[in-house]
Amino acid sequence: MTKKNIDWGSLGFVYQPTDYSVSAMYKDGKWSDLELTADHTCHMSECACVLQYAQTVFEGLKAYTTPDGRTVTFRPDLNAQRMIDSAERLGIPPVPEEMFMEALDLLVANNLDWVPPYGSGATMYVRPFIYGSGPMISVAPAEEFEFRMICMPVGPYFKGGIKPLVLKISDFDRAAPHGTGDIKAGLNYAMSFHAHEVAHNEGFAENMFLDAGTRTCVEETGGANFLFVTKDGKIVTPKSKSNSILPSITRRSLMVVAKDLLGMDIEQREVPIAEVPEFAECGLCGTAAVIAPVGKINDHGKEICFPSGMDEMGPVLKKLYDTLTGIQMGTIEGPEGWIHEIK
Ligand SMILES: *Cc1c(COP(=O)(O)O)cnc(C)c1O
Repeated sequence: MTKKNIDWGSLGFVYQPTDYSVSAMYKDGKWSDLELTADHTCHMSECACVLQYAQTVFEGLKAYTTPDGRTVTFRPDLNAQRMIDSAERLGIPPVPEEMFMEALDLLVANNLDWVPPYGSGATMYVRPFIYGSGPMISVAPAEEFEFRMICMPVGPYFKGGIKPLVLKISDFDRAAPHGTGDIKAGLNYAMSFHAHEVAHNEGFAENMFLDAGTRTCVEETGGANFLFVTKDGKIVTPKSKSNSILPSITRRSLMVVAKDLLGMDIEQREVPIAEVPEFAECGLCGTAAVIAPVGKINDHGKEICFPSGMDEMGPVLKKLYDTLTGIQMGTIEGPEGWIHEIK
């Protein structure tokens, strides 16, 4: 194995084709065998259901190099299960968990030179997705699909140190009550692009979306769940009024770490926006950054400033962050089954 000659520390979050991708086709009611391919272009009908009706679901996870040189992934079985849940909701034939795991092993094992070394700050991002490739003009699911898994090395989420973000409460909604907010559907992202652009143009890093039904409770951002810390050190994460929060694997893992490893009190419950100014710390969690601290939230001109400030992550979230990243990188022993080694 010879690692690619890449300046790992200066990588961004940018598409980069590697040596191979993995693909399988669904036709005549069944999935084909998985195949390694060096062709990084998808070939489909101009009338593919994904192009006409956005029939596509995806996942996102990372592969890391441990200090002793192993290549590992974090709880990929949960990504496999979540992609099954997403697929079923969009009329897409699910990829069974064993097939997903086989694809992951095949993909990463054949792109080892692209997995950033330990300590570089970079990681390998893995993007599995399924899309309706077969032609469809009437409003119905495709009959043919492609499952693809691609990967690329990506840089650290925060270059030059972790900086708290400033958010705004959006006047747009991310997902309808009891709609597709709880699955990883590409269409959820397309729908948030405009709201994101508006927030960016006003100088905010992200949007805080409220529940679409009543606009009274915190849901999530376009791509990360919220964690709050109360003044007495309890971890609180929003529960949706209407099943429209994406079940983040990072958030679910952090809640286990908080409770079982660090002995903290945790709560998953509705979080009224009126309660947010009472919290001591606020963060966003997801695969990309693990935890991104939030320093301020703008509620229609009124600023909510967290006591943790604009210089660094608050102490409680930092403890959670250090513990989970330690487990992911293999320097801290986590719960059984959380680390999947690529062989
Ligand atoms: C993927 C995603 C997250 C984060 O989930 P992780 O499994 O932690 O990466 C949060 N919100 C949305 C909308 C997402 O699509």
